[in-house]
Amino acid sequence: MLIFENHPLLTLNSFAIDAKAKYFTSIQSIDEIAEVVKKNKKDLNEQLLFLGGGSNLLFTKDFNGWVIKNDLKGIELIKEDENYFYVKAMAGENWHQFVMYCVDHNYAGVENLSLIPGNIGASPMQNIGAYGVEIKDVFCELEAYNIEDQQLVTFNKSDCEFGYRDSVFKTRLKNKFIITSVCFQLPKRPKYNTKYGAIEKELELMNISTPTIQAISNAVIQIRQSKLPDPLKIGNAGSFFKNPVISQAKFDALKLTFPNIPSFPNNHLVKVPAGWLIEQCGWKGYRKKDAGCYTLQALVLVNYGKATGAEIVELSQEIIESVKDKFGIELEREVNIF
Ligand code: FAD
Ligand code: NAP
Repeated sequence: MLIFENHPLLTLNSFAIDAKAKYFTSIQSIDEIAEVVKKNKKDLNEQLLFLGGGSNLLFTKDFNGWVIKNDLKGIELIKEDENYFYVKAMAGENWHQFVMYCVDHNYAGVENLSLIPGNIGASPMQNIGAYGVEIKDVFCELEAYNIEDQQLVTFNKSDCEFGYRDSVFKTRLKNKFIITSVCFQLPKRPKYNTKYGAIEKELELMNISTPTIQAISNAVIQIRQSKLPDPLKIGNAGSFFKNPVISQAKFDALKLTFPNIPSFPNNHLVKVPAGWLIEQCGWKGYRKKDAGCYTLQALVLVNYGKATGAEIVELSQEIIESVKDKFGIELEREVNIF
């Protein structure tokens, strides 16, 4: 295991922020995780940051501790029964490559989650979701290494306390576990979800009347490529904010002043697209130095080149305040800030 000091993180985060890690290492086995955790406890007692693809975080300063990049590899069909295929993927596998593996093997359930950046290990962190599917819908169990007692532990679905872009690993157990693998249960008799967003329209454009796993995946890829910035060209971490969920009464009151406000029912509450709120406040396409609000989707904050993490956070704070002033809704950041 190689340990680097003062290591550049520029190419290891999709916002392309020029920060450094005091210590950096890449781990390829569970033994190596144990080694680095023990070494840190014994000699250093520094802060730890577990890094996957770096596509859901923002560095506002150099990281004054260990950045541990999880590079555990492997994808395997571990069993099947009458109803499901059980596929286990190691934390360092790329999420989209895993989706492509499932699509190629005709395993359903994750096709709506095509082209989400990042790695398997982070996917349960915020219960990644898109186009009406969240990983909790196909989740079986995960393994994670407990930093405190240095043991591998298995979490089932209820242990993970999945919520909307949320899990126990973002709340109660934050920074306490490093996820090492995730096992997904993929249904043998799937119900395709094509009603969400522009999927149906895209399938029509592709002249497809009977959707398949491959066709849905291609449609999602096509839609995403047409409206989201490619992090290799423009730094970003996807949606910077969560969509707020408000009470029906609050929504009804807002509708009187803003009759066009879009909404979706959400467990007896109402979800309002944050991108719409931000756009109404005039931020879409805004740019100050190299920090901006993306021209095609206001929910995505971008780094046009040399923006610092602090400049992006400052912009996000101005957006939060203006949305609060206009709509009385407090936006919550989705991206992890360091
Ligand atoms: P990282 O950014 O490396 O880490 C994110 C957090 O998880 C950090 O707190 C980190 O410490 C922690 N972490 C990472 N790996 C581990 C591990 N093994 N164990 C413990 N903690 C860990 N998200 C969605 O939900 N839906 C989308 O549709 C979506 N679209 C996106 C589109 C774009 C263009 C971009 C740039 C991002 C998008 N995202 C989306 C956000 C992001 O891709 C996901 O949240 C993804 O799961 C992050 O994975 P990562 O490996 O890059 O995590
Ligand atoms: P979109 O299709 O323009 O829709 C805007 C918002 O409306 C979305 O945020 C979505 O909420 C909601 N929505 C749309 N149709 C819905 C339906 N039938 N039922 C309930 N809610 C509905 O959104 P987009 O920006 O192009 O993104 C498409 C999908 O990819 C969304 O699911 C989005 O979450 C996901 N995505 C996530 C990220 C990220 O970083 N987290 C980045 C890009 C895209 P939800 O967000 O709750 O789905």
